[in-house]
Amino acid sequence: MGMFDTVIIKLHCIWCGAEIEDWQTKDLNNSLETFNIEELKKIKKTQPELFKKTFPQIDKHKWIEIHGICPKCNKFISLQLDLETNI
Ligand SMILES: [Zn+2]
Repeated sequence: MGMFDTVIIKLHCIWCGAEIEDWQTKDLNNSLETFNIEELKKIKKTQPELFKKTFPQIDKHKWIEIHGICPKCNKFISLQLDLETNI
């Protein structure tokens, strides 16, 4: 199986409303690192060249795909987060 990274952002399950904080993504470095979404946004804003070099895939799309399984209802959730606007 492939690797992934963890993204920390508090969002509610689209199915049952439970709060989920840990998400997986394959859009970053796939090196089992943990990223806070606010940090990513900050780097994108203050160091756009570094961001582009480090995360070419997100820079192209302008969004990041995150997914996870709700610990409460066990349903799979996949979301696209826009990094340029507030979520
Ligand atoms: Zn749920």
